[in-house]
Amino acid sequence: MAKYIFITGGVVSSLGKGISGASIGKLLQLHGFKVNMIKFDPYINVDPGTMNPYQHGEVFVTTDGAESDLDLGTYERFLDVYTSKANTNTAGDIYKTVITKERRGDYDGDTVQVIPHITDEIKKRFAALKDECDISIIEIGGTVGDIEGLPFMEAARQFQLENKAEDILSVHVTLVPYIAGAHELKTKPTQHSVNKLREIGISPDMIICRTEHPLEESLKKKISLFCNVKQNCVVEAMDVSSIYYIPETLYNQKVDTLIMEKLNIKPKSKFDKAWFTKIKSLSDHNKIVKIAVVGKYADLKDAYKSVDESLNIAAAELKAKAEIHYLGAEDKSLLSKLKGYDAILVPGGFGNRGIEGKIKAITYARENKIPFFGICLGMQCSVIEVARNLAKLDDANSTEFDETTKHPVIKILDEQKDVKYRGGTMRLGNYKSEIKKNTLAHDLYKSNEIQERHRHRYEMNPDFVETLEKSGMTVSAYHKKVLPEIVEIRNHPFFIGVQFHPEFGSRPMKAHPIFKGFITAALKNK
Ligand code: GLN
Repeated sequence: MAKYIFITGGVVSSLGKGISGASIGKLLQLHGFKVNMIKFDPYINVDPGTMNPYQHGEVFVTTDGAESDLDLGTYERFLDVYTSKANTNTAGDIYKTVITKERRGDYDGDTVQVIPHITDEIKKRFAALKDECDISIIEIGGTVGDIEGLPFMEAARQFQLENKAEDILSVHVTLVPYIAGAHELKTKPTQHSVNKLREIGISPDMIICRTEHPLEESLKKKISLFCNVKQNCVVEAMDVSSIYYIPETLYNQKVDTLIMEKLNIKPKSKFDKAWFTKIKSLSDHNKIVKIAVVGKYADLKDAYKSVDESLNIAAAELKAKAEIHYLGAEDKSLLSKLKGYDAILVPGGFGNRGIEGKIKAITYARENKIPFFGICLGMQCSVIEVARNLAKLDDANSTEFDETTKHPVIKILDEQKDVKYRGGTMRLGNYKSEIKKNTLAHDLYKSNEIQERHRHRYEMNPDFVETLEKSGMTVSAYHKKVLPEIVEIRNHPFFIGVQFHPEFGSRPMKAHPIFKGFITAALKNK
């Protein structure tokens, strides 16, 4: 069975197409289907790895080392699946593939064109997971009408033509704005958006309307009439307090049944309605835990999306609500702002800016016995902190920030050359580490070996391990016995730094062990 659901968006961006698609996927999964999602981003960057988080938010990393859109994190968390390179596509990567083939002479003298060569490559990628799941949900990024999105829409049109009608469903997500002066919800932008889609040759089967107010039946009727969609397929998507409640709001409008009817499929198992109750129970809490995240992008939560989700998920499992504050590492009054938090986290990052602030925050956490969790760059900063302040290695630094430092405790290692990296000099995706017994890491993971996702270029320098261990730091895990993966501090309630990105591994109701341990320690510190 190969069924496809296409998700497109109209009117404005940021309507939550990923969340809508993932919510539909969740409902189908609760009916027993195997579901996965694929993202298509129409920009020319080959991947978002080089993009500024201000423009793009967090870079999510797949287990096989693709640097991808943060929507893949939403797919993983909603569907509890693992994404891979096949789940993430950009116009840049698609053009690169086609141009590489052209240079190799694969097109046999043909003039290489958007139609059919680019669209053929896109269609091939639409079908990439068809043998691995029952239903592929395909999200096309951007908004209908964008010039750069056109080849993707055109490919979707062709795909519809080439497959059976019952194998494909098209969902369009739009905005129904509320005009306060007129006290009215307006359907015109939705009408225009659907017209645009129909001009391209795609007629949506379902419209998901993002709205701040309930959609009256009369409005649904109007949208149905003007947009050529059955009235019961005009779906209201009001803002909710947790994105994980959206599957239930869609279920209450029979979205799952309507989709299964159109795709001519029958549920594979009894619907698992208990998921809704379990998700709701995550909001019950009897305490607040205050976490400070000290990073470069304090005013942009999306830059730390998976960290944010992981903290919330772990707190929810411990019947607490995480109150997360993002503090700018370059803020002059950072130290005074840190007072009153139950725990401090320093996330990943690149570049010099804010490093000294992060190190100060770590000194504060270490000296005042505040639970501390450093992720990737955060771990590297904790190594620098201990080197400078406990081991007294003056000017200890990472060669990322000071190439001539006398004490390069973090650097690009010769040993790295023996480890085959997927991203050139960048360690990307899953790598194994062995954990030492009788360490905090071992207590948390309860395992001798783990696999976690990486995205970094620099490593802790093994030449300094002995000195740092004498000063109170322990390296509690290594990759292939050479590359330090986890550091911790003895005589501290909770101080851990990890070279990898555990935040990509959290799912609702399955908190990541380090995040759970961190929140547990934060609650004890209240
Ligand atoms: N900039 C650091 C490195 O490249 C850390 C990267 C990160 O935090 N993802 O090693």
